Amino acid sequence: MPSTLSPSTAKLIACPECDLLQREIPLPPGGAAICPRCEAVLYRNTPGSLDRTLALLLASVILFVLANAFPIVGIESRGNRNATTLFGAVLTLWDEDMPIVAGLVFFTTIFAPAFELFALTAILAAIRWGLRSRPLPRVFRLVLAARPWSMVEVFMLGVLVAVVKLSHLAHITPGIALWSYGALIAIFAAAMSTFNAHELWERLTFDR
Ligand SMILES: [Zn+2]
Repeated sequence: MPSTLSPSTAKLIACPECDLLQREIPLPPGGAAICPRCEAVLYRNTPGSLDRTLALLLASVILFVLANAFPIVGIESRGNRNATTLFGAVLTLWDEDMPIVAGLVFFTTIFAPAFELFALTAILAAIRWGLRSRPLPRVFRLVLAARPWSMVEVFMLGVLVAVVKLSHLAHITPGIALWSYGALIAIFAAAMSTFNAHELWERLTFDR
């Protein structure tokens, strides 16, 4: 528990690369702490980075909702052409006796990105507006654990698999959803590149 740490142990940090234990020092704005043994970057002082990340995440949430609310594939069945959303495509894969592909596509293109996006936005918004609650560090650890399943590459691969598997009866619809997905991939990557996890942990554990 952070509250039981004594001041002398509270500011120790282990190098993520070589495990060298060292004392944390305050950095000037824009500065970075470098491990003296392996020269890995331990942490950076990036003023306002959590606000920037939150702004980009809020934009990503809007794009994610648009991308899922509007049709992205056109499906032909019995001579009719119907436009459907990504979730509709998942249901079609399921109906086409591809339950494993349907499950994987749902998990990698809808569930995992939605969880990461909404959980991270909620954590940053809670910190931004001073609402601290005990489950926040636990939720953030869950986000980190889900991270390998919601990365942009996995996300794009999921969409690609859905389209290829449905190619005999579906085609991509260039519309609001497709453009939103394109923008989402870029904005979400920008959000993650400005994200300073070290600063988030600091705010989560020492600001109480
Ligand atoms: Zn090191």
